[in-house]
Amino acid sequence: MTAALFDRIAIIGIGLIGSSIARAARQQGLAKHIAIADISEEVRKVAAELKLGDSCHAEPGAAVRDADLTLVCVPIGAYAEVGQAIAPHLKSGSILSDVGSVKQAVLRDLGPLVPDHVHFIPGHPIAGTEHSGPAAGFAELFEGRWTILTPLPGWDEAAAAKLSEFWTRMGAMVETMEPMHHDQVLAITSHLPHLIAYTIVGTATGLEEHTQREVIKFSASGFRDFTRIAASNPIMWRDIFLNNREAVLEMLGRFSEDLTALQRAIRWGEGEKLEDWFTRTRAVRRSIIDAKQA
Ligand code: NAP
Repeated sequence: MTAALFDRIAIIGIGLIGSSIARAARQQGLAKHIAIADISEEVRKVAAELKLGDSCHAEPGAAVRDADLTLVCVPIGAYAEVGQAIAPHLKSGSILSDVGSVKQAVLRDLGPLVPDHVHFIPGHPIAGTEHSGPAAGFAELFEGRWTILTPLPGWDEAAAAKLSEFWTRMGAMVETMEPMHHDQVLAITSHLPHLIAYTIVGTATGLEEHTQREVIKFSASGFRDFTRIAASNPIMWRDIFLNNREAVLEMLGRFSEDLTALQRAIRWGEGEKLEDWFTRTRAVRRSIIDAKQA
């Protein structure tokens, strides 16, 4: 184990992502003191039982006091509230980052509250599961996965390098991206697939009862994969769609056009068109496997 990167880190929101960071940071010896905070008493109780932090706080402000790195790990809809609570207590020269899935909304809600003496470097680990809460996290979650940092103009290179090192020592690969570009990319790679899963599983639940029973019984085919995605955290996903509205609607428009094209191909028996399409998409899967992101 190498030297600690930070004396004290604060993790606000100790659910799936926050608790995974706490575990990985502990395992890698990245901080001498891990302070955690969560709004939920039940979550704090579980986090204490799991010994996720060296100190556990109900007030986010108390957790961030003296922290050299603060990581906001709550649903996007709670950012403004958390920002108000922590801003007056952030240490001068410290780093404020986060894990939120939509970056322009983070800049909008947190940005104006961050004091000038704090290095604000938003981030997003492209890693997760359909589970939530402190018990669902695990230290290996970020291994071999990308974390995207979306720094602001004039960012402090040394602070960004330190934050990058924090992520790489947890096993992640780090890349930087413009916030708007991030939101567009994630709209197609993550947000739209979740919307499709939520739709298809919702459609199945609207079927007549006897068909519904068979859907569950024979779900070994494609449907099962959709149910896993559609089991994801409802609050988190509500907030993602409300806060990445434009990019999601843009991708949804393109998707609808392509769906209509495939619908026509099926209607008119255009087998070649379907085969070409499916051959192209098969190649995408292969490139994801080659990139070790499968
Ligand atoms: P989670 O398991 O539900 O954890 C979030 C935690 O934050 C919960 O314990 C929640 O408590 C707490 N919280 C809510 N409002 C709070 C407040 N005002 N102050 C303090 N704590 C508060 O969610 P998660 O999956 O870790 O997601 C957290 C963030 O990571 C989200 O912004 C999400 O976009 C991002 N993210 C998620 C994934 C993923 O796959 N899950 C991947 C990458 C990034 P309650 O349960 O009582 O509300």
